[in-house]
Amino acid sequence: MIPVNTPRLAGNEAAYLQECIETGWISSEGPFVSRFESAFAKVVDQKFGIAVTNGTAALECAIAALRIGPGDEVILPTFTIISCASAIVRAGATPVLVDLDPTTWNMDVQQIATKITARTKAIMAVHLYSLPADMDPILQLCEQHGLFLIEDAAEVHGQTYKGRPCGSFGHISTFSFYPNKHLTTGEGGMVLTNDEALAERCRSLRNLCFQPQKRFVHEELGWNWRMTNLQAALGLAQLEQLEEVVKLKRQMGDRYRESLKELEAYFEFPPSDKSYSKNIYWVFGLVVKSQSPVSLSSITDALKKHRIGTRPFFWPMHEQPVFKKMGLFQDEKYPVAEHLARNGFYLPSGLGLSETDQNKVADCLKEIMG
Ligand SMILES: *Cc1c(COP(=O)(O)O)cnc(C)c1O
Repeated sequence: MIPVNTPRLAGNEAAYLQECIETGWISSEGPFVSRFESAFAKVVDQKFGIAVTNGTAALECAIAALRIGPGDEVILPTFTIISCASAIVRAGATPVLVDLDPTTWNMDVQQIATKITARTKAIMAVHLYSLPADMDPILQLCEQHGLFLIEDAAEVHGQTYKGRPCGSFGHISTFSFYPNKHLTTGEGGMVLTNDEALAERCRSLRNLCFQPQKRFVHEELGWNWRMTNLQAALGLAQLEQLEEVVKLKRQMGDRYRESLKELEAYFEFPPSDKSYSKNIYWVFGLVVKSQSPVSLSSITDALKKHRIGTRPFFWPMHEQPVFKKMGLFQDEKYPVAEHLARNGFYLPSGLGLSETDQNKVADCLKEIMG
């Protein structure tokens, strides 16, 4: 079986975990948590990092920290993981959607301006499939309209936009450390900011809003989003390998591109080079073109028979039954997102994928396509 993702744990992971066990520090009180937070914050070029239980919690923390709630609108791409929209909806605020730019698979920045109203409080810029969103026009809109920027950088550890690290742009930025991301802690996430008051607020929200003086007296409701020392130990070891990981991911992407070149008539390939960034291939996605002789489901079924795992693309927020039932996004249409969602899938692209297995995947796909 070649699964769609295999993690790579090739550095100090075991040694740091051993240290946790030998010292007895396994909870969120352990020393790896703050070490990981400051080391990751440095790489992302933000002053403060607040480690949390996952990337979804990081987004919820960002929304709560910015006090976004009923009456507020947040603009985000329709094509993303549900975590982005659910964080907004759970806070009682309204998600406002934009389509993707077909050449970048990222938010169409032209559409953002048309969706800004007096109620808009923030733009949630999500870097999708590891090519950054075009940040300059987004930053300009935020400045011009006094909006917060929430930067969801869950798919772009180690990526840059015009030489600046992804995650360095947001008033609050968020990451996930799920095993298919470039850096994993098993489960985990982080919130990052340059604003000390916001950082303090995130720390409090993460820790049930316990108070420093009267610990069990609460002025506000928080959550338990604390990351454990075990997870942070993994994170620190993974962070030491980030540069290598980015290199490996680019190699994987280039190799697929090269070996699948002859299928260009049947597939759209992931966007690669833009003037501002080079893709780092969080996953290697393909979009089946209408002239393909084999349908998407036949392709993924045939790969499955050869014991090769695939995943479909995200399903757009405006087509989610759960949101339709809430009366959201009625009659909204976003053709680029709908096209990608209906025709896109990705191949095994984890860091643990060997070159031999990758070649097997490519050969098998070529055979299926005739
Ligand atoms: C993976 C991901 C998340 C969610 O992270 P979890 O750790 O799985 O909760 C959020 N946003 C984006 C863009 C992601 O890819």
